[in-house]
Amino acid sequence: MMQDGEKGVIIQRDKLTYAVAPHIPCGVVSPDTLRRLADVAEKYNAAALKITSAARIAIVGIKEEDVDNIWSDLGMSPGAGVGLCVRSIKACPGTTFCKRGIQDSLSMGMKLDGIYHGMELPSKFKLGVSGCPNQCAETCIKDIGLVGMKNGWKLLVGGNGGARPRLAVELMNNISDEEAISAIDRIIVFYKENGKRNQRIGGMIEDMGLEEFKAKIL
Ligand code: SF4
Repeated sequence: MMQDGEKGVIIQRDKLTYAVAPHIPCGVVSPDTLRRLADVAEKYNAAALKITSAARIAIVGIKEEDVDNIWSDLGMSPGAGVGLCVRSIKACPGTTFCKRGIQDSLSMGMKLDGIYHGMELPSKFKLGVSGCPNQCAETCIKDIGLVGMKNGWKLLVGGNGGARPRLAVELMNNISDEEAISAIDRIIVFYKENGKRNQRIGGMIEDMGLEEFKAKIL
């Protein structure tokens, strides 16, 4: 029996089969990749293809002996779906596709994915990028969220939608792409060095006080 995360598998409820969820940055997938996912699911008799809440496509209900061949047929890398690390980055279509978009959330999401996806941190960590205040990427319940505003990004921190949900608080507003990336980097480095194991960043901010956290980051 494999463990969660080993070879990118997620153990299923029956404790006999596994799911794999390849990395699909920001949920943008080409027709070719979609076909390959469907072909692999069919070839290995998967129980289902499940679009996950993290905008990945999981191939569910596969056997241990097929896992290596499945990854080799897919030619994709596993997404960071379990463990104490940066999970997938959720980004809405923003100015690339959405008529309401104010900022380019998809490009920003891809950038953040390239830098942070899979990075080990004290707890699981979710990032979101919304192209406008409608927050379709659920940015207010992400550990770090960017929201597109008229004059740049609003940076939110400390949200999560877990067992003890918490709304993120605003840390900065009207910041450029570069300022946003540099602030996110400071936040993540600070959390990596100071966060307690299994405590989301929102809990850390609550413990130390928002003003002190701001003083450290800004
Ligand atoms: S957050 Fe705004 S830009 Fe993004 S999908 Fe929703 S309406 Fe469109």
